[in-house]
Amino acid sequence: CGIVAYAGDRAASPILIQGLRKLEYRGYDSAGIAIHRGSKIEVYKQEGKVANLVESLGDYHGDPVHRGAKVGIAHTRWATHGPPTTANAHPHHAGDGRIALVHNGIIENYRGLKARLESAGHQFSSDTDSEVLAHLVDSYYDGDLLSALSAALKEVEGTYGVACICSDEPQRLLVARRGSPIVIGVGDGETIVASDASAIINHTRQVIYLDDNDIALIDGGRVDIRTLDAVPVQRDMASIDWSA
Ligand code: GLU
Repeated sequence: CGIVAYAGDRAASPILIQGLRKLEYRGYDSAGIAIHRGSKIEVYKQEGKVANLVESLGDYHGDPVHRGAKVGIAHTRWATHGPPTTANAHPHHAGDGRIALVHNGIIENYRGLKARLESAGHQFSSDTDSEVLAHLVDSYYDGDLLSALSAALKEVEGTYGVACICSDEPQRLLVARRGSPIVIGVGDGETIVASDASAIINHTRQVIYLDDNDIALIDGGRVDIRTLDAVPVQRDMASIDWSA
C-alpha cells in the first residue's frame, strides 16, 4: 500500500515514521520499518496503526541504534495475500537478516517461486507473496544488490513498487517499479523515496518519477537509474508545487 525509504546522513527512523503518518490517509492494516543494526538488518513491525508500531519502538529518538541508522525502508500494508497480522506485515527479510524489502502490489507467480525456493532450503515466516521476493533476491545475492534485485525482478510476473536494503551494502538503497508508483525525492546529500509524493514534500520538492521496469541505486544524494538489463537511463527531475 504505502512505501517510504531514506538514505542520507540523518537518522532514518524518525523520517520513516513521519512518512508513514503522511501515508495513513490511504488506509492500511499494519506497518513496519527496517534499519541497519551492526552487521545485520533489524525489522520492527506491528499489526494495526502506525501508533502501535511507534509504541513498540519505545524511545527511538534517543536510542543509539535508531540514531545511528542512516538508511532504512518502511511500509504500510493493505493485505492481498495472507491475513493482516504482524508476521505478514512488511518489511520482509531473508538470508538471516541480510536482505530486507518492502513491496506494494501483487507477485502473481509467487507460488511457483516459493516452491522452488523452499526446495532450495529457504524458510518462510509469512503467508505473503512479498516475502517470496525477499528470498528470491537473497538467492541471487552474490555481493551486488543491484544485480540480485534486477535478476529477481526479471522473474516476477505481476506488479511491484519495491524498496530493498542489504546488510553487506549498508549505504545503499535500491528501489524499483512496475505498475505501482515510486517517487524519488532528491534532497541535499539525501534521498527520500515514497509511493506517494505527500510523504516527501516536507523534505524536498525535487522529484524523479520512476518508469515501469526502472531500477534505481541510491547512495546518499546520488541516484543512478537503470533498466533491469543494467542499461543506464535518464529520467527528468520534476518540481512539485502543490502545498502540503
Ligand atoms: N501483496 C502484498 C501483501 O499482501 C503487498 C500488499 C500491499 O500493496 O500493501 O503483503
